[in-house]
Amino acid sequence: CGIVAYVGHRQAQEIIIKGLKRLEYRGYDSAGIALLNGGLNVYKKKGKVSELEEYLKGKNLDSHIGIGHTRWATHGEPNDANAHPHYSASGKLAIIHNGIIENYSSLKQELIRKGHVFHSDTDTEVFIHFIEDIKDNERCSLEEAVRLALTKVIGAYAIVIMSLEDPNLLVAARKGSPMVIGVGKDEFFLASDATPIVEYTNEVVYLNDQEIVVIRDGELSIKDTANLPLTPYIQTIDLEL
Ligand code: GLU
Repeated sequence: CGIVAYVGHRQAQEIIIKGLKRLEYRGYDSAGIALLNGGLNVYKKKGKVSELEEYLKGKNLDSHIGIGHTRWATHGEPNDANAHPHYSASGKLAIIHNGIIENYSSLKQELIRKGHVFHSDTDTEVFIHFIEDIKDNERCSLEEAVRLALTKVIGAYAIVIMSLEDPNLLVAARKGSPMVIGVGKDEFFLASDATPIVEYTNEVVYLNDQEIVVIRDGELSIKDTANLPLTPYIQTIDLEL
């Protein structure tokens, strides 16, 4: 239900946990975070963000990139396994997702036939397996695989994906669920609304439906699902916390 992601020079985990707390008003049943700290590691818990925080205590969370989520269950009961982020089959990709993938069941059956094993009951885990399956079959980039997947999924989504293979890459997209990009100095934020971002920058881009964002090596680019590049419209907002 709430999304926060970060890449830049700060500790991702601090920004994400703080941001998830700012999004708590949206309602949720579980929370989780993925970091690149010696591997692509996912930490998730049913319950409050404060319970996730408790679970994270004492762990080495040193990472300059990360994605975090508060979940409002639509497919699969609220529990640790169904909390986000979710891994792809190889464990090299992690996703957070707000919304619903309506045709997840037929996609899941097809992937199970191909040998995919699922660890949750969510539509979201199907989504990231599907994206990786396309990436492997087409031998294309992650962003191209996301684009192709979006032409096939039916539903509503705001997603952010990170990859073990590229520590300076976030790929995001939306359709029917909100997403704001915060543009800082050599750092970027992604969130469901601007409240987790305004403490760090007032330069934001409101993503439109059917747009795909790639943040790679400190550069922001946006394109549409037909692969046409778009010029990001950066607005200066004045939001008091
Ligand atoms: N449909 C997804 C799930 O049930 C995402 C729900 C949400 O927006 O938090 O896990």
